[in-house]
Amino acid sequence: MAAQVIDGKAIAATIRAEIKLEVEMLQARAGRVPGLATVLVGQRKDSQSYVRMKKKACAEVGIASFAQELPADVSQQALLEVVRELNADSNIHGILVQLPLPGHIDDEEILAAVSLHKDVDGFHPLNIGRLSMKRREPLFVPCTPKGCIELLDRTGVEIEGRHAVVLGRSNIVGLPVAMLLLHRNATLTVCHSRTQDLADVVRRADILIAAVGRAEMVRGDWIKPGAVIIDVGVNAVEDDSVEKGYRLVGDVAFSEAAQVASAITPVPGGVGPMTIAMLLRNTLDSAKRA
Ligand code: NAP
Repeated sequence: MAAQVIDGKAIAATIRAEIKLEVEMLQARAGRVPGLATVLVGQRKDSQSYVRMKKKACAEVGIASFAQELPADVSQQALLEVVRELNADSNIHGILVQLPLPGHIDDEEILAAVSLHKDVDGFHPLNIGRLSMKRREPLFVPCTPKGCIELLDRTGVEIEGRHAVVLGRSNIVGLPVAMLLLHRNATLTVCHSRTQDLADVVRRADILIAAVGRAEMVRGDWIKPGAVIIDVGVNAVEDDSVEKGYRLVGDVAFSEAAQVASAITPVPGGVGPMTIAMLLRNTLDSAKRA
């Protein structure tokens, strides 16, 4: 069986077009332009590139972006002060503190200082707490997990009653995506580095969300025939045949799994573009609520 390839790039483009239209309508109706502040600490190349992509995506849909760039040795107090100023600025509806922060910074304190009403990354402990409880609506859902569910919905995948296996339990992907699946009435199994007989557990998945950060760890014979696979993993593997000397692969061995699954996301071009689209969506929703 050749699986349907879930085109995250195309789905994210459709979502960005929807957002652009809503941004224009909000501006016409309320004279309000959604604003996203990005806070970048230090000179990490990957973080700089993520922030650049986010600013570019904002510009494309008419969201104003405000960049704060701080030196790697910024103090905890100075960073807290920047966050407080952004909290108080009524032109800003979303604040994104690019992670990871340098080691001397207490990131838990910084993330908790972001106004609950501007927490477009969804990492504020109150938003995560609400996400984890029944019948409590968080103001924002973390972008990558939200993007995974959106991919399932827009592909017409039934979640209710299906067995979902989440590979990984991180605060930013595994845990919140597991909560979202549970709220959508999936029967849930969460796996991690201490899970025994991992392949056997994964083989029971109707829906597999892989977020471990291990290149092509999930092999074709781990997949239940007809399963739907959302591969969150982004791993660089050496490849001398390309100019850069590396290529990106997911946590799932794509070509093997695609022989068995009914649908699968590629890497790149699957979950990645959805993460940014969901950040724009959260910022727009925040501006609408303001
Ligand atoms: P993380 O914080 O490193 O968490 C990895 C999780 O996988 C942990 O729960 C860990 O278990 C588990 N794990 C690690 N090795 C394992 C193994 N051999 N067997 C079973 N479980 C194992 O990673 P993350 O931040 O969630 O990210 C996961 C992947 O998604 C990475 O490749 C990252 O680059 C990618 N990602 C992509 C996007 C996107 O927008 N596309 C966004 C975020 C992350 P323990 O808890 O027991 O340690």
